[in-house]
Amino acid sequence: MLAEYAFPNASSQGRRHPEEHHAYRDDFQRDRDRVIHSRAFRRLENKTQVFTHRFSDHFRNRLTHTIEVAQITRTVAAELGLNLDLAETLALVHDIGHPPFGHAGEKALDQAMRASGECFDHNLHALRIVEHFEQRYIAFRGLNLTFEVREGIIKHSRDYAEAEYPQLAEYRLAERPPLEAQLVDLTDEIAYNTADLDDGLESGIITLEGVRRGVPVLEKFYREVDAAHPDALEKLKFNEALKRMLNHLVGDLISNTRARLKDGSVDSLEKVRRHSERLTAFSPAVEAERRQAKQFLYDHLYFSPALSRDKEESERIIAEMFRFYLAEPEKLPASYRSQLPEVSLPRLVCDYLAGMTDTFILEQFREHIGETRLHA
Ligand code: MG
Repeated sequence: MLAEYAFPNASSQGRRHPEEHHAYRDDFQRDRDRVIHSRAFRRLENKTQVFTHRFSDHFRNRLTHTIEVAQITRTVAAELGLNLDLAETLALVHDIGHPPFGHAGEKALDQAMRASGECFDHNLHALRIVEHFEQRYIAFRGLNLTFEVREGIIKHSRDYAEAEYPQLAEYRLAERPPLEAQLVDLTDEIAYNTADLDDGLESGIITLEGVRRGVPVLEKFYREVDAAHPDALEKLKFNEALKRMLNHLVGDLISNTRARLKDGSVDSLEKVRRHSERLTAFSPAVEAERRQAKQFLYDHLYFSPALSRDKEESERIIAEMFRFYLAEPEKLPASYRSQLPEVSLPRLVCDYLAGMTDTFILEQFREHIGETRLHA
Protein backbone atom coordinates (compact mmCIF):
# COMPACT_ATOMS: atom_id res chain seq x y z
CA MET A 1 0.00 0.00 0.00
CA LEU A 2 1.51 3.29 -1.12
CA ALA A 3 1.05 6.38 1.02
CA GLU A 4 -0.77 9.26 -0.65
CA TYR A 5 2.46 11.31 -0.86
CA ALA A 6 4.43 8.43 -2.43
CA PHE A 7 5.31 8.17 -6.09
CA PRO A 8 2.72 5.97 -7.86
CA ASN A 9 4.03 3.91 -10.81
CA ALA A 10 1.18 5.18 -12.96
CA SER A 11 2.51 8.76 -12.68
CA SER A 12 5.80 7.90 -14.36
CA GLN A 13 6.78 10.04 -17.33
CA GLY A 14 8.25 6.88 -18.81
CA ARG A 15 11.39 6.21 -20.83
CA ARG A 16 13.04 8.16 -23.66
CA HIS A 17 12.53 5.18 -25.95
CA PRO A 18 9.16 3.60 -25.25
CA GLU A 19 9.32 -0.11 -24.46
CA GLU A 20 6.77 -2.90 -24.08
CA HIS A 21 5.81 -3.58 -20.47
CA HIS A 22 7.40 -6.62 -18.89
CA ALA A 23 5.19 -9.55 -17.94
CA TYR A 24 5.89 -9.46 -14.21
CA ARG A 25 8.37 -6.67 -13.42
CA ASP A 26 7.24 -3.07 -13.30
CA ASP A 27 9.32 -0.23 -14.75
CA PHE A 28 11.19 0.70 -11.56
CA GLN A 29 12.01 -2.95 -10.87
CA ARG A 30 13.43 -3.18 -14.37
CA ASP A 31 15.44 0.01 -13.79
CA ARG A 32 16.85 -1.48 -10.58
CA ASP A 33 17.88 -4.60 -12.49
CA ARG A 34 19.46 -2.55 -15.28
CA VAL A 35 21.51 -0.59 -12.76
CA ILE A 36 22.72 -3.78 -11.07
CA HIS A 37 23.66 -5.30 -14.42
CA SER A 38 25.57 -2.22 -15.55
CA ARG A 39 29.33 -2.13 -15.86
CA ALA A 40 29.56 1.10 -13.87
CA PHE A 41 27.82 -0.61 -10.94
CA ARG A 42 30.29 -3.51 -10.93
CA ARG A 43 33.19 -1.06 -10.99
CA LEU A 44 32.07 0.36 -7.63
CA GLU A 45 33.73 -2.64 -6.03
CA ASN A 46 37.14 -1.26 -6.88
CA LYS A 47 36.47 2.35 -6.03
CA THR A 48 37.50 3.84 -2.71
CA GLN A 49 34.86 4.92 -0.25
CA VAL A 50 37.18 6.29 2.44
CA PHE A 51 39.96 3.75 2.82
CA THR A 52 42.16 2.59 -0.02
CA HIS A 53 42.85 -1.13 -0.11
CA ARG A 54 46.23 -0.75 1.52
CA PHE A 55 44.54 -0.39 4.91
CA SER A 56 42.67 -3.68 4.72
CA ASP A 57 40.29 -5.46 2.40
CA HIS A 58 37.47 -5.76 4.89
CA PHE A 59 36.64 -2.06 4.92
CA ARG A 60 33.77 -0.61 2.93
CA ASN A 61 34.32 0.11 -0.70
CA ARG A 62 31.87 2.06 -2.80
CA LEU A 63 29.89 -1.06 -3.68
CA THR A 64 29.39 -2.29 -0.12
CA HIS A 65 28.59 1.29 0.93
CA THR A 66 25.95 1.37 -1.82
CA ILE A 67 24.43 -1.89 -0.57
CA GLU A 68 24.23 -0.45 2.95
CA VAL A 69 22.51 2.68 1.64
CA ALA A 70 20.04 0.57 -0.35
CA GLN A 71 19.21 -1.54 2.68
CA ILE A 72 18.61 1.48 4.95
CA THR A 73 16.62 3.19 2.19
CA ARG A 74 14.33 0.17 1.81
CA THR A 75 13.63 0.13 5.54
CA VAL A 76 12.73 3.83 5.68
CA ALA A 77 10.78 3.77 2.41
CA ALA A 78 8.73 0.77 3.54
CA GLU A 79 7.93 2.34 6.89
CA LEU A 80 6.83 5.62 5.25
CA GLY A 81 4.78 3.82 2.61
CA LEU A 82 6.94 5.12 -0.25
CA ASN A 83 7.55 3.45 -3.59
CA LEU A 84 10.07 0.80 -2.57
CA ASP A 85 11.32 -0.07 -6.05
CA LEU A 86 11.93 3.56 -7.02
CA ALA A 87 13.67 4.30 -3.71
CA GLU A 88 15.84 1.19 -3.92
CA THR A 89 16.84 1.91 -7.51
CA LEU A 90 17.85 5.46 -6.58
CA ALA A 91 19.93 4.18 -3.67
CA LEU A 92 21.69 1.61 -5.85
CA VAL A 93 22.52 4.21 -8.50
CA HIS A 94 23.39 7.11 -6.17
CA ASP A 95 27.20 6.75 -6.32
CA ILE A 96 27.54 5.35 -9.82
CA GLY A 97 29.13 8.57 -11.10
CA HIS A 98 31.95 8.57 -8.57
CA PRO A 99 35.49 8.63 -9.96
CA PRO A 100 38.36 6.57 -8.49
CA PHE A 101 39.85 7.57 -5.11
CA GLY A 102 36.69 8.83 -3.40
CA HIS A 103 36.28 12.53 -2.76
CA ALA A 104 39.94 13.24 -3.42
CA GLY A 105 39.45 11.93 -6.95
CA GLU A 106 36.33 14.00 -7.41
CA LYS A 107 38.09 17.15 -6.27
CA ALA A 108 41.15 16.56 -8.44
CA LEU A 109 39.06 15.89 -11.56
CA ASP A 110 37.04 19.02 -10.93
CA GLN A 111 40.20 21.10 -10.55
CA ALA A 112 41.66 19.68 -13.75
CA MET A 113 38.45 20.49 -15.62
CA ARG A 114 38.25 24.02 -14.27
CA ALA A 115 41.55 24.82 -15.96
CA SER A 116 39.66 24.46 -19.25
CA GLY A 117 36.57 26.31 -18.06
CA GLU A 118 34.52 23.16 -17.33
CA CYS A 119 33.82 21.20 -14.18
CA PHE A 120 33.23 17.70 -12.85
CA ASP A 121 30.09 16.86 -10.91
CA HIS A 122 29.40 13.24 -9.98
CA ASN A 123 25.62 13.56 -10.35
CA LEU A 124 25.95 14.94 -13.87
CA HIS A 125 28.51 12.29 -14.66
CA ALA A 126 26.15 9.58 -13.39
CA LEU A 127 23.51 10.86 -15.78
CA ARG A 128 26.00 10.62 -18.69
CA ILE A 129 26.80 7.05 -17.66
CA VAL A 130 23.21 5.86 -17.72
CA GLU A 131 22.33 7.90 -20.81
CA HIS A 132 25.40 7.37 -23.00
CA PHE A 133 28.27 5.27 -21.72
CA GLU A 134 26.49 2.06 -20.86
CA GLN A 135 26.00 0.17 -24.09
CA ARG A 136 24.20 -3.11 -23.53
CA TYR A 137 21.02 -2.94 -25.56
CA ILE A 138 20.39 -3.16 -29.28
CA ALA A 139 17.44 -0.80 -29.34
CA PHE A 140 19.00 2.23 -27.62
CA ARG A 141 22.12 3.78 -26.22
CA GLY A 142 22.44 3.87 -22.42
CA LEU A 143 20.09 2.12 -20.02
CA ASN A 144 16.92 3.93 -21.13
CA LEU A 145 15.90 4.45 -17.50
CA THR A 146 12.60 6.04 -16.53
CA PHE A 147 12.39 9.80 -16.15
CA GLU A 148 12.02 9.53 -12.35
CA VAL A 149 15.23 7.55 -11.92
CA ARG A 150 17.15 10.04 -14.06
CA GLU A 151 15.57 12.93 -12.16
CA GLY A 152 16.54 11.27 -8.87
CA ILE A 153 20.14 10.79 -10.04
CA ILE A 154 20.37 14.54 -10.61
CA LYS A 155 18.47 15.72 -7.57
CA HIS A 156 19.18 13.25 -4.77
CA SER A 157 21.70 15.47 -3.04
CA ARG A 158 21.30 19.00 -4.35
CA ASP A 159 19.27 21.37 -6.50
CA TYR A 160 20.35 22.66 -9.90
CA ALA A 161 19.31 26.07 -11.25
CA GLU A 162 18.02 26.09 -14.79
CA ALA A 163 19.95 29.24 -15.69
CA GLU A 164 23.21 27.50 -14.85
CA TYR A 165 22.30 24.04 -16.19
CA PRO A 166 20.09 24.54 -19.27
CA GLN A 167 20.87 20.97 -20.38
CA LEU A 168 18.90 19.73 -17.34
CA ALA A 169 15.78 21.80 -18.08
CA GLU A 170 13.62 18.70 -18.68
CA TYR A 171 14.09 17.57 -15.06
CA ARG A 172 11.52 19.92 -13.46
CA LEU A 173 14.31 21.88 -11.77
CA ALA A 174 12.00 24.35 -10.05
CA GLU A 175 10.27 21.49 -8.22
CA ARG A 176 11.28 19.27 -5.34
CA PRO A 177 12.00 15.65 -6.34
CA PRO A 178 9.70 12.86 -5.09
CA LEU A 179 10.31 11.74 -1.49
CA GLU A 180 11.95 8.54 -2.76
CA ALA A 181 14.78 10.68 -4.21
CA GLN A 182 14.94 13.09 -1.25
CA LEU A 183 15.40 10.15 1.09
CA VAL A 184 18.61 8.87 -0.45
CA ASP A 185 20.72 11.86 0.57
CA LEU A 186 19.88 11.20 4.22
CA THR A 187 20.17 7.41 4.16
CA ASP A 188 23.56 7.97 2.50
CA GLU A 189 24.52 10.18 5.47
CA ILE A 190 23.36 7.58 7.99
CA ALA A 191 25.25 4.82 6.18
CA TYR A 192 28.58 6.59 5.87
CA ASN A 193 28.64 8.38 9.20
CA THR A 194 28.16 5.10 11.08
CA ALA A 195 30.30 3.02 8.71
CA ASP A 196 33.18 5.50 8.85
CA LEU A 197 33.19 5.43 12.65
CA ASP A 198 33.33 1.64 12.40
CA ASP A 199 36.08 1.44 9.77
CA GLY A 200 37.90 4.40 11.31
CA LEU A 201 38.13 2.65 14.66
CA GLU A 202 39.14 -0.63 13.05
CA SER A 203 41.92 1.17 11.15
CA GLY A 204 43.34 2.54 14.40
CA ILE A 205 43.23 6.10 13.05
CA ILE A 206 40.55 7.04 15.55
CA THR A 207 40.27 5.59 19.05
CA LEU A 208 37.32 4.52 21.16
CA GLU A 209 38.20 7.23 23.70
CA GLY A 210 38.28 9.80 20.91
CA VAL A 211 34.93 8.71 19.51
CA ARG A 212 33.32 8.67 22.94
CA ARG A 213 34.58 12.19 23.60
CA GLY A 214 33.80 13.62 20.15
CA VAL A 215 30.50 11.95 19.25
CA PRO A 216 28.01 12.55 22.09
CA VAL A 217 25.24 10.46 20.52
CA LEU A 218 27.53 7.43 20.37
CA GLU A 219 28.68 8.10 23.93
CA LYS A 220 25.09 8.13 25.17
CA PHE A 221 24.48 4.65 23.72
CA TYR A 222 27.91 3.38 24.81
CA ARG A 223 27.12 4.27 28.43
CA GLU A 224 23.81 2.41 28.20
CA VAL A 225 25.51 -0.68 26.78
CA ASP A 226 28.40 -0.45 29.25
CA ALA A 227 25.99 -0.26 32.19
CA ALA A 228 24.11 -3.34 31.01
CA HIS A 229 27.18 -5.37 29.94
CA PRO A 230 30.20 -4.08 31.90
CA ASP A 231 32.25 -7.24 31.22
CA ALA A 232 31.65 -7.47 27.46
CA LEU A 233 34.52 -6.89 25.06
CA GLU A 234 35.04 -3.20 24.34
CA LYS A 235 34.80 -3.81 20.60
CA LEU A 236 31.40 -5.47 21.00
CA LYS A 237 30.15 -2.72 23.26
CA PHE A 238 31.18 -0.20 20.62
CA ASN A 239 29.46 -2.23 17.94
CA GLU A 240 26.26 -2.42 19.96
CA ALA A 241 26.39 1.35 20.62
CA LEU A 242 26.98 2.04 16.93
CA LYS A 243 24.05 -0.19 15.99
CA ARG A 244 21.84 1.76 18.41
CA MET A 245 23.09 5.03 16.95
CA LEU A 246 22.18 3.88 13.42
CA ASN A 247 18.77 2.77 14.62
CA HIS A 248 18.29 6.11 16.39
CA LEU A 249 19.08 8.08 13.20
CA VAL A 250 16.81 5.90 11.07
CA GLY A 251 13.96 6.07 13.59
CA ASP A 252 14.22 9.84 13.84
CA LEU A 253 14.32 10.26 10.07
CA ILE A 254 11.11 8.23 9.79
CA SER A 255 9.20 9.93 12.60
CA ASN A 256 10.34 13.45 11.80
CA THR A 257 9.63 13.12 8.08
CA ARG A 258 6.20 11.74 8.90
CA ALA A 259 5.56 14.72 11.21
CA ARG A 260 6.67 17.20 8.54
CA LEU A 261 4.36 15.62 5.99
CA LYS A 262 1.50 15.85 8.45
CA ASP A 263 2.26 19.42 9.56
CA GLY A 264 2.49 20.59 5.95
CA SER A 265 -0.71 18.71 5.02
CA VAL A 266 1.28 17.02 2.29
CA ASP A 267 -1.10 14.39 0.98
CA SER A 268 -0.11 14.09 -2.67
CA LEU A 269 2.89 13.84 -4.96
CA GLU A 270 1.98 17.26 -6.36
CA LYS A 271 2.28 18.80 -2.90
CA VAL A 272 5.65 17.13 -2.39
CA ARG A 273 6.83 18.60 -5.68
CA ARG A 274 5.49 22.08 -4.96
CA HIS A 275 6.58 22.25 -1.32
CA SER A 276 8.97 25.11 -0.56
CA GLU A 277 11.68 22.78 0.74
CA ARG A 278 12.61 19.13 0.94
CA LEU A 279 10.43 17.20 3.36
CA THR A 280 12.68 14.32 4.39
CA ALA A 281 14.72 15.50 7.38
CA PHE A 282 16.03 14.65 10.81
CA SER A 283 14.57 16.50 13.79
CA PRO A 284 16.65 19.55 14.86
CA ALA A 285 18.11 17.68 17.87
CA VAL A 286 19.16 14.66 15.83
CA GLU A 287 20.37 16.87 13.00
CA ALA A 288 22.72 18.46 15.54
CA GLU A 289 23.94 14.99 16.61
CA ARG A 290 24.51 14.03 12.98
CA ARG A 291 26.56 17.19 12.42
CA GLN A 292 28.70 16.50 15.48
CA ALA A 293 29.44 12.99 14.25
CA LYS A 294 30.28 14.26 10.80
CA GLN A 295 32.51 17.02 12.16
CA PHE A 296 34.34 14.48 14.29
CA LEU A 297 34.98 12.36 11.19
CA TYR A 298 36.29 15.38 9.29
CA ASP A 299 38.58 16.46 12.09
CA HIS A 300 39.93 13.07 13.13
CA LEU A 301 39.54 10.74 10.15
CA TYR A 302 39.09 12.34 6.73
CA PHE A 303 41.79 14.97 7.37
CA SER A 304 43.99 12.78 9.54
CA PRO A 305 47.65 12.62 8.53
CA ALA A 306 47.28 8.91 7.73
CA LEU A 307 44.54 9.49 5.14
CA SER A 308 45.85 12.85 3.94
CA ARG A 309 48.98 11.27 2.53
CA ASP A 310 46.92 8.88 0.39
CA LYS A 311 44.61 11.70 -0.62
CA GLU A 312 47.47 13.88 -1.82
CA GLU A 313 48.91 10.99 -3.79
CA SER A 314 45.48 10.25 -5.31
CA GLU A 315 45.13 13.88 -6.38
CA ARG A 316 48.59 13.84 -7.92
CA ILE A 317 47.78 10.69 -9.89
CA ILE A 318 44.53 12.14 -11.27
CA ALA A 319 46.20 15.46 -12.16
CA GLU A 320 49.14 13.80 -13.90
CA MET A 321 46.96 11.32 -15.80
CA PHE A 322 44.75 14.19 -16.91
CA ARG A 323 47.77 16.11 -18.26
CA PHE A 324 49.10 12.96 -19.89
CA TYR A 325 45.96 12.20 -21.95
CA LEU A 326 45.52 15.87 -22.80
CA ALA A 327 49.04 15.92 -24.24
CA GLU A 328 48.78 12.47 -25.86
CA PRO A 329 45.14 11.92 -26.88
CA GLU A 330 46.22 9.08 -29.19
CA LYS A 331 46.72 7.01 -26.02
CA LEU A 332 42.97 7.18 -25.30
CA PRO A 333 40.95 4.13 -26.37
CA ALA A 334 39.55 4.36 -29.91
CA SER A 335 35.97 4.45 -28.60
CA TYR A 336 36.81 7.72 -26.81
CA ARG A 337 38.90 9.26 -29.60
CA SER A 338 36.04 8.71 -32.04
CA GLN A 339 33.89 11.16 -30.03
CA LEU A 340 36.22 14.04 -30.94
CA PRO A 341 35.51 16.79 -31.81
CA GLU A 342 31.80 16.66 -30.79
CA VAL A 343 32.96 16.15 -27.21
CA SER A 344 35.84 18.39 -26.06
CA LEU A 345 39.16 16.72 -25.33
CA PRO A 346 39.17 17.73 -21.63
CA ARG A 347 35.64 16.28 -21.24
CA LEU A 348 36.67 13.04 -22.94
CA VAL A 349 39.72 12.70 -20.72
CA CYS A 350 37.54 13.47 -17.69
CA ASP A 351 34.96 10.84 -18.74
CA TYR A 352 37.66 8.25 -19.25
CA LEU A 353 39.38 8.91 -15.92
CA ALA A 354 36.09 9.14 -14.00
CA GLY A 355 35.08 5.69 -15.25
CA MET A 356 38.30 4.09 -14.04
CA THR A 357 38.51 1.98 -10.91
CA ASP A 358 41.31 2.60 -8.40
CA THR A 359 43.01 -0.56 -9.66
CA PHE A 360 42.89 0.46 -13.31
CA ILE A 361 44.07 4.05 -12.86
CA LEU A 362 47.06 2.85 -10.80
CA GLU A 363 47.91 0.36 -13.55
CA GLN A 364 47.69 3.12 -16.17
CA PHE A 365 49.73 5.47 -14.03
CA ARG A 366 52.52 2.91 -13.64
CA GLU A 367 52.49 2.20 -17.37
CA HIS A 368 52.52 5.80 -18.59
CA ILE A 369 54.02 7.90 -15.81
CA GLY A 370 55.87 6.09 -13.09
CA GLU A 371 55.85 4.71 -9.58
CA THR A 372 53.39 5.43 -6.82
CA ARG A 373 53.21 4.08 -3.31
CA LEU A 374 49.44 3.64 -3.56
CA HIS A 375 48.22 0.09 -3.91
CA ALA A 376 44.78 -0.91 -5.07
MG1 MG B 1 27.16 7.53 -1.07
